Amino acid sequence: MTKEWLPLNDGRAMPQLGFGLWQVPAHETARVVRDGVAAGYRLIDGAAIYGNEAGLGEGLRSMGVPRDQVFVTTKVWNDRQGTDDTRRAVEESLARIGVPQVDLMLIHWPCPERGRFLDTWKTLVALRDEGRVASIGVSNFRVVDLERIIGETGVVPVLNQIELHPRLQQVELRDFHARHGIVTQSWTPLGQGKSFDAAPIRAAAARSGKSPAQVILRWHVQLGCSVIPRSTRAAGLAENIDIFDFALTEAEMAAIATLDAGERTGPDPATFT
Ligand code: NAD
Repeated sequence: MTKEWLPLNDGRAMPQLGFGLWQVPAHETARVVRDGVAAGYRLIDGAAIYGNEAGLGEGLRSMGVPRDQVFVTTKVWNDRQGTDDTRRAVEESLARIGVPQVDLMLIHWPCPERGRFLDTWKTLVALRDEGRVASIGVSNFRVVDLERIIGETGVVPVLNQIELHPRLQQVELRDFHARHGIVTQSWTPLGQGKSFDAAPIRAAAARSGKSPAQVILRWHVQLGCSVIPRSTRAAGLAENIDIFDFALTEAEMAAIATLDAGERTGPDPATFT
């Protein structure tokens, strides 16, 4: 089960571990949602650009637990930034999922070259105040982007979802988040498996009797991050949630810290549009 919950800076809370729906085929999404909830997950990470919000909604309606027990995130895509577009995009996501409100709405990327993330953020603040979304946050924001929206609106995002794995440990952003009460949420948390064979991961896996993936997910949890691995297989979903019955030692955490190489698998938020 998802044992840990993280407090949010708006007074709410979210499960620490969830699963993501990027690249999950639309026709499989409802089944993956049902399998995930059956495995014990209570946090689901979606996005308009994933093209499977309708399947997410279908899964929520057939999952067999009350809707209010599952925390649902979705995101505004880059070409819908700006005051009017964002408002329409959020309404369209709610309609596709088939819910009156989602738990968390994120700006997917800052897209600094578009120059619209501040207006987008102000629109999310208004939509939150109107009750269309319960909590609001961002994704792929750099320190400079966070400083801008906080400085201009005084509203601190509850969460920043960023690429984070052993080869990209995001120390500067995690420090900023900690100082401002922002949850760090890790995307591509398994880092495309590139650290599975690294000595500190193998040693911790051998010592604890867990898989490399479970060691890495446990590392995210012990850093205090929220983490949203993706698996479409029921067995993979079950493996990735089975990380609350062991702990990495301080020495193991320190050894994994040495794997940071500042190496992205995805786009650079400074230039991605
Ligand atoms: P991930 O780190 O979760 O890895 C997924 C890959 O690892 C898949 O190929 C899967 O089959 C494999 N895998 C899963 N469990 C495994 C296990 N136990 N052992 C071995 N292999 C395993 O990567 P991801 O899907 O890129 O990221 C997770 C989620 O983060 C996405 O689904 C999405 O919701 C979110 N995300 C967000 C952004 C963003 O810009 N905000 C970008 C990418 C991903």
